[in-house]
Amino acid sequence: MTQRIAVIGAGVLGLSVARMLALQGAQVTLFDKGAPGAGTSQISFAWVNANGKSPESYHRLNAAGIEAHKRLQQISRAPAPWLLETGTWEWAAEPAIQAELEKRLTKLTVLGYPWRTVTREALLAHFPELRLDSRIQQ
Ligand SMILES: Cc1cc2nc3c(=O)[nH]c(=O)nc-3n(C[C@H](O)[C@H](O)[C@H](O)COP(=O)(O)OP(=O)(O)OC[C@H]3O[C@@H](n4cnc5c(N)ncnc54)[C@H](O)[C@@H]3O)c2cc1C
Repeated sequence: MTQRIAVIGAGVLGLSVARMLALQGAQVTLFDKGAPGAGTSQISFAWVNANGKSPESYHRLNAAGIEAHKRLQQISRAPAPWLLETGTWEWAAEPAIQAELEKRLTKLTVLGYPWRTVTREALLAHFPELRLDSRIQQ
């Protein structure tokens, strides 16, 4: 017998849950007090990442989310790609901030999360509009 399930809230979470249930054969009805996607999901920066997420279980949840986004992109019928794997750029000039970043990178390495260092030149080539403190050469 087909399961009939109601999902309340058509934000990114409700839509994802409804989609997964429907894919598994349930008959899903999605309710929203307003318009789909008009809640917090509408004002998200849409940044997909698992950087700086702790504890580890939260990191892993976010990393799994990234993989799910990639799989969805692969099967998406949208005319243009909607997933931009931009990652993030971090600039650590102060020794204390550098130490903090290095600590985080060590953790990310253990977790198998990709990262790389870029030179000042590479950063400026990517973002020519950046104005970096000329006293900092690395
Ligand atoms: C400024 C900002 C930037 C963010 N940037 C990022 C980011 O870059 N990356 C990231 O991963 N996350 C980001 N987030 C977090 C992310 O946006 C939220 O975690 C996510 O959108 C929450 O989705 P949701 O479906 O739980 O909630 P919502 O999108 O708020 O959806 C909830 C839905 O439930 C409906 N609803 C509520 N109550 C009822 C009711 N009683 N009956 C019927 N319907 C109801 C609402 O109308 C709404 O449509 C950001 C958040 C903010 C505020």
